[in-house]
Amino acid sequence: MVNNLTTAHHLRHEPTLSSRLSKLKAVILGEPLASDDDLILPSRDFSQKALVPSFEKYMEMYKRSIEDPASFWSDIASEFYWKKKWGQQVCSENLDIRKGNIHIEWFKGGITNICYNCLDKNIESGNGDKIAVHWEGNEPGLDDSLTYNQLLDRVCQLANYLKDNGVKKGDSVIIYLPMLMELPIAMLACARIGAVHSVVFAGFSADSLVQRIIDCKPKVVITCNAVKRGKKIINLKDIVDSALSESSQNGISVGSCLTYANETAMKKEATKWQKGRDAWWQDVVPEYSTKCDVEWVDAEDPLFLLYTSGSTGKPKGVLHTTGGYMIYTATTFKYAFDYKPSDVYWCTADCGWITGHSYVAYGPLLNGATVVLYEGVPNYPDFGRCWDIVDKYKVTIFYTAPTLVRSLMREGDEYVTRYSRKSLRVLGSVGEPINPSAWRWFFNVVGDSRCPISDTWWQTETGGFMITPLPGAWPQKPGSATFPFFGVQPVIVDEKGKEIEGECSGYLCVKNSWPGAFRTLYGDHERYETTYFSAFPGYYFSGDGCSRDEDGYHWLTGRVDDVINVSGHRIGTAEVESALVSHPQCAEAAVVGVEHEVKGQSIYAFVTPVEGVPYSEDLRKSLVLSVRTNIGAFAAPDKIHWAPGLPKTRSGKIMRRILRKIASKQLDELGDISTLADPHVVKKLIELADS
Ligand code: ATP
Ligand code: MG
Repeated sequence: MVNNLTTAHHLRHEPTLSSRLSKLKAVILGEPLASDDDLILPSRDFSQKALVPSFEKYMEMYKRSIEDPASFWSDIASEFYWKKKWGQQVCSENLDIRKGNIHIEWFKGGITNICYNCLDKNIESGNGDKIAVHWEGNEPGLDDSLTYNQLLDRVCQLANYLKDNGVKKGDSVIIYLPMLMELPIAMLACARIGAVHSVVFAGFSADSLVQRIIDCKPKVVITCNAVKRGKKIINLKDIVDSALSESSQNGISVGSCLTYANETAMKKEATKWQKGRDAWWQDVVPEYSTKCDVEWVDAEDPLFLLYTSGSTGKPKGVLHTTGGYMIYTATTFKYAFDYKPSDVYWCTADCGWITGHSYVAYGPLLNGATVVLYEGVPNYPDFGRCWDIVDKYKVTIFYTAPTLVRSLMREGDEYVTRYSRKSLRVLGSVGEPINPSAWRWFFNVVGDSRCPISDTWWQTETGGFMITPLPGAWPQKPGSATFPFFGVQPVIVDEKGKEIEGECSGYLCVKNSWPGAFRTLYGDHERYETTYFSAFPGYYFSGDGCSRDEDGYHWLTGRVDDVINVSGHRIGTAEVESALVSHPQCAEAAVVGVEHEVKGQSIYAFVTPVEGVPYSEDLRKSLVLSVRTNIGAFAAPDKIHWAPGLPKTRSGKIMRRILRKIASKQLDELGDISTLADPHVVKKLIELADS
C-alpha cells in the first residue's frame, strides 16, 4: 500500500475556501472582469452541469484520493481495459532519499496497452465513427479528418510496418515530425507494439537531434521531407540526413528512415535520398494490413522518453511508463477541462512537448474526444487564425500558453472580435505563470467573460496536471493555478526543507507520488535522484517557487533559480514581470537579477512594447512606476532594456539564464543556445544594451 499516509498529518494542508473570499471584489462568470476584480465566481448554470459542481464535492473526492489513494485510483483504473489486473499493491514508492533509492511504481503487474485504450476500446463502445482528429493545415482551406475507426486502421498499418522493420517491444523509435496526422499516428503505433517513442520537436537543429539519437539509439527514425510554417519552409529531411550521418560517425547507425512526403511544403523529387535506408511513408505503409495485434505490456513498461524544454540548462531525458501515465492523463484531462463527449478540443501545443503528449494525444483520446490538430503558426495568414479555427470546428475547449496569449493581446482585440467564438466553453493555460493582465484579456476578450480558465501547473516530469482549477467547482483568481488535483499533496517548504503552513512563500515540493510521475531520467537514475529528490529529502522538488495566499490559493512565482534578492527581499520574476505587463504599452517583459554593490542584486528588466509603441524615456519612467505602485519601490527595476523580442525555447518559454548573461555583460558565457527558437534575438538584444 502507499506508505506514509497518516490522515492527521496531511490534513493540516487541507484546501479550504476561507470566508475572507467574500470580501474580495467578485464578479460572476458571464460578467466582464475589471482590472481590480480579484475573484470570478462560477455561474450557477456552469456549476450545475460541471463534473465537479462544488468545492465540497471536490473536497470529498480529494480527501478520498489522499486518504486512500489505492482505492481512489483503482476505481478509476477499472474503467480502462486491462488484459490482466494489477497485483495487490496499487502503488509502491520511496520518495525519501535517506531511506534508499527512489522508486515509484503504479499498477505493477497489470497488463494493458495505451493504444488499445485510446482506440479499440472507444470503438467497441460505439464511437468508431466519431471524429478523432480534425487536422487543419498551415494553409487555410487545407484540412482533413479521421474517425476513430480510420485512425485505428492507420495506426495498425504503421505498427505492422515497424514490426516488419525489426522494431520490437522495448526498442526505441525517434519521431521528428511536424503537426501532421502522422505524428499522433506514429506515437500510437509505437505504443501498440510496445516500442518506446521519443518525439523530438521538428524545429530542433541537427545537433539536438544527434544528442537524442545517441542517447536512445532508435531502430527507426520517422520524419517528413519538409514543412511549411507560416511562409517559411523548413527542410526536415536535410536536418535528419545530417543528424544520421553524424550519429553514425559516433557509432550509432540507424537502419531505417521512414519519410512522409509532405508535398504541400516540398515535392518528393526535390528531396535528397539515401537508398536502402530511406522509404517514403506513402509508398510502403498503406501496403500493410489494417489489423495489428496489440503487444500487451506491464503497467511499468516504458511508454516514452521525452526531453524537458531546456529553459534552465541541458534538457533532461524524462521516462514515463504505461499504466499510471494512462490513468493520470485521462483523469486530469477529464476533470480539469470538465470534458463532455460533445466537446471539440484544441490544444495549440506541439506533440514535441509533454503538453502535446498528454493533452493533444493520450489524455483526450483516452476519453474518446474529438481533437483539433493544427500544423501552422498562430499568426498566419494573420493574427486572427486561432479564432478562425475555433469557429470552423466549433471548438469548445481551447488550451494554450501565456506566450501566445500575450503575443495576440499586443495585436489588439479586433483580430479576436471579428470571429464569433461562441462555441468556446473552457479555456486553458500552461507553460509559464500567466500574468493577471493577460489572464483578464484571455477571459474578457477571447472567452467573452463566459469561460473559466484552467491555469494548469505541471511539468514534463509530472506527466499531467498537478495544481489546476476545476471549472465550475470554485472561484477563480486571475493568475492563480488554485488547488491541487486529486491525489497530489503539494507542500511549500523553506530553505531548510521544513513545510510551511498557511499564507507563505517558498519552494514547491510534492510529498507523495501520483500515477503520472516520471520514473527515472533515461540512463541516469542517479541524476534523477540528485536533481529532484536530494535538495529537500523526503519530497519531490519541482524547482519552482510558489506562494499560498490567505485563501489557500497557489501562485507560481517562477523557477527558484530565477529568484532575485534585492536588499534581502526575495522577489519572484513572475511578480515583477506581471507588474510590467499590466502596463498598457508593455507587450512582454522578462526580469533577471544582476549583481549590485549595495543591494546584493538589482532588478534588470527586458521589455517589449506593444506593436507600434516607440522606445522612450517617458515609457521607461512609467514602466518603473507601474512596478512601484503594483509591488513596491524595492522591486523597481534599475534598468529597462528594450527588447524587440525575447530569447525563448522552442516551446515558447523565456530563457532567463541567457538574459542574465546579457544583463551582466558576460557575453562569452551565453551557454547552450541550441534550444532557442530564434538565436538572432540574442544579437539584437546585445546591440540594444546601451540604448
Ligand atoms: P528544463 O527543466 O529543461 O529547464 P522546462 O522546465 O521549461 O525545461 P517543462 O517541463 O516543459 O520544461 O516545463 C515545466 C515548467 O514550466 C514548470 O516547472 C514551471 O516552471 C513552468 N510552468 C508550466 N505550467 C505552468 C503554470 N501553469 N504556471 C506557472 N508555471 C508553469
Ligand atoms: Mg523543468
